Amino acid sequence: STPTQFTLVTEEDIAAVFQPRNRFAHKGTFGHALLIAGSHGKMGAALLSAKACLRSGAGLLTVHIPGRGEQILQTAFPEAMVDLDQHQDHFSSVSGIKAYSSIAIGPGLGKHPDSAKALEQLLQVVEKPLVIDADALNLVAANKDLLKRIPPRSILTPHPKEFDRIAGESSNSYERLKKAQAFAIDHQVCVVLKGAYTAICTATGNVYFNNCGNPGMATAGSGDVLTGIILALLAQGLEPETASVAGVFLHGTAGDLAAVYRSEESMIASDITDMLGKAFKQIK
Ligand code: AMP
Ligand code: MG
Repeated sequence: STPTQFTLVTEEDIAAVFQPRNRFAHKGTFGHALLIAGSHGKMGAALLSAKACLRSGAGLLTVHIPGRGEQILQTAFPEAMVDLDQHQDHFSSVSGIKAYSSIAIGPGLGKHPDSAKALEQLLQVVEKPLVIDADALNLVAANKDLLKRIPPRSILTPHPKEFDRIAGESSNSYERLKKAQAFAIDHQVCVVLKGAYTAICTATGNVYFNNCGNPGMATAGSGDVLTGIILALLAQGLEPETASVAGVFLHGTAGDLAAVYRSEESMIASDITDMLGKAFKQIK
C-alpha cells in the first residue's frame, strides 16, 4: 500500500482547479444540484446552504424542503427551484433524484423518525456520491447500519462532535484525526473533519490540511455554507476529493475576507457567502 501523504493546501493548488469558463457554456454545463435541507425552526440552514451553492457556480439548484419553507425560499432566492416535501415540517421522502448532478443532505434537516426512514430510502436508491452534513450525519450516528449504505466517494462534513457521534469519543484531536483517516479508508469516503485546521481525509488515506479561515467562522450556519459550496463544485464536475479540498479553501478564504470587512466578532455565516465572489477572484 502507498504511504500516507499529509499535504498543506495552498492557493496555487486551488487556483489550478478552477479553469476559465468556456465562452459557449450554458447552464447545463455547470450541473444541476439538489439540496435536501431544512425543517420547522431550522429553515435558515437550508437558505444559507442554498445561497452558498448558487454563489459557487452551480448551473441549476433545486432545494427539497418541507412545505412550509416554500414561500421563504422562493422569496429569498428566485434563482432556485423548489421541490416540496409531502410533509409541512420535516423531510419525509424524496423522488426523482437521478436527474441531479450532485446531491447534498443535512443542513437543518432535523432528526424526525420520518427523516431517518427517508434517508435510509435515499441511500438505497442513490448511485452518486452524496454530501452528508449536520443532521444527516446525526441520523447516521443514530443508526449505524446506514454507514454501510453510504455511496462510495461520498463526502462527510462533520464538526468534531458530529464525528464523535459516528465514530465514538476521542480524548484529543490527534486521536480523532487518526480515527477520521481510518474511517475514510474503511468506508471509502472523504471525511472533512472541520475546525480551525480542517482536515480532509481521503479514501486512499491521504490527509489535506487547510490553514485559511479564522475564529470569526465559529458562528451559526458557517458549516451550512460549506455544504452549499461543496455541492456546487460537485455539480460542476469536480471529483469529490477535489471538491472537498477546494470547497474548504474557498470557504476559508471567503471567511478571511468577511473578517476583514466585518471583524471576527461581527461576521455571520451569510457574510462568508457574500465574500465568495471576491474569494474566487483572489484565488484565480
Ligand atoms: P459548523 O460547526 O458545521 O457550523 O461548521 C463550522 C465551520 O466553520 C467549519 O467549516 C469550520 O472549519 C469553520 N470554523 C469554525 N471555527 C473555526 C476557526 N476557529 N478557524 C477556522 N475555521 C473555523
Ligand atoms: Mg454544521
